[in-house]
Amino acid sequence: MINFLYVLAVLVLAGQALIGLAFFISCILEKEKRATLFAAFQLTGMLVPIALLLYVKQIGFFDTAAGVILLAAGLVLACGVVFLFCRKTGVNPRAIRGTRGYIEDHVERADERRQVFARNRSLPPGSEQYRAFYQNHPDLEAGDEKRRAKGGPLGQPGIVDRPHEVPNVAATFASLSIPIILSEPDKVKPRPHPLFQGKKSQLSPEEATTRIKGYSRKLGADLVGIARIDPLWIYSHRGEIFHENWQDWGKPIDVSHDFAIVFAQEMSLEMVGTGPHTPTVIESMRDYAKGAFIATQVASFIANLGYSATANHVRHYEALMVPLAVDAGLGEMGRLGYLMTKPYGPRIRLSAVTTNLELIADKPVDIGVEDFCRYCRKCADCCPSKSIPVEPDQTVVNGTLRWKLDAETCFDFWGKVGTDCDVCMRVCPWSHADTFPHRIIKFMVSRNRHARRIFQLLDDVFYGRRPKPKPAPSWAAH
Ligand code: SF4
Ligand code: SF4
Repeated sequence: MINFLYVLAVLVLAGQALIGLAFFISCILEKEKRATLFAAFQLTGMLVPIALLLYVKQIGFFDTAAGVILLAAGLVLACGVVFLFCRKTGVNPRAIRGTRGYIEDHVERADERRQVFARNRSLPPGSEQYRAFYQNHPDLEAGDEKRRAKGGPLGQPGIVDRPHEVPNVAATFASLSIPIILSEPDKVKPRPHPLFQGKKSQLSPEEATTRIKGYSRKLGADLVGIARIDPLWIYSHRGEIFHENWQDWGKPIDVSHDFAIVFAQEMSLEMVGTGPHTPTVIESMRDYAKGAFIATQVASFIANLGYSATANHVRHYEALMVPLAVDAGLGEMGRLGYLMTKPYGPRIRLSAVTTNLELIADKPVDIGVEDFCRYCRKCADCCPSKSIPVEPDQTVVNGTLRWKLDAETCFDFWGKVGTDCDVCMRVCPWSHADTFPHRIIKFMVSRNRHARRIFQLLDDVFYGRRPKPKPAPSWAAH
């Protein structure tokens, strides 16, 4: 019996030391100096009980009654700790209902024309559309004019005048050229290839779902989910216009599709780690280009099957991506306003295809984000423009309970630094590398509220409350 207890104790302590070692290695790979140092202390601390156990066995203490009691008590304590931090401590009833769980009042569909990007990027001053828009929204005109005079994000003009930034801005614009090409009307609303003209494939919803998800992953989507479309998340009117397609500006957008296939692509930790400097915007645009590549091909695939499909990507949105992704079960919405996924946190970019092809919808998920964000607030503390609310609880905005990011001040900061910043994304504890020890932590925090409190505090200890940007890879030095 005593031998069995002893072996069990050795296995438990060796197991936790191995996890400690894996975390230490993960910190080195993440290039986190502070976390590596703390992980080394932690690993040393984990090795001490093993040494003690071996020593105590050596001197024969476990042959005494006190030794047996101590060993048994230690094992019971270890089981208690595992139970305390791994058991499921309840379900968030709002999260498992998806966006519907957060609706408290009447929700007005968003008008894309009012969106900060559409106003400042699309509307040419002096145009008929410009006059029409500001006649209806005189409160926005002076602020937008001032913003345009200063120059918007992505180096227009400001940042390209800083010679050392030119290569990174050049790379960003190289990636941006792809979504621009892929936003031509026949790419976002593809017609079937002549070979499939007038034909409709009869696929069961199960088969269609399997084929679409498999094809999307093959094209490079890291996560794919399917939502039944809630019309509330479709823009009411078209606002962002490319390819001089001005007849579409201000047109009401019909809710003609029932399903949305939503794709998430992981952004590289190495590049996001440099935010708000230019390497992070190279990564954003690379990911957006990948999203456009996936969405337009999936839309074309569906068109060839004989159904209607619309690609939504960085240069053509008809719907709000985050609510669709929440309803598609890809994650929950975080304090910072981005989708938070379990494997990558907010370190992703989203794109989607809406369609009338009958599919099987995924279920929304509860991964503990709402509870974690209530106490964490790291993104809000680190946001250079103070655009993220610090209050513990969400408020009702346009009928929906959420933490409302101030998109105007955030966009102004983008204009100032010439990138899309990403500081909030960089510092979020959910953004760490998707390595084995972080997976264990996410497993625990997604199901246990005690684990959420502990790991939120430990994140501050290991990574710092206000982590600094990391150096860029040599090829993207800025
Ligand atoms: S930094 Fe903290 S509060 Fe902000 S989104 Fe991430 S987990 Fe939530
Ligand atoms: S992108 Fe930057 S400015 Fe905008 S909310 Fe995040 S941290 Fe703040």
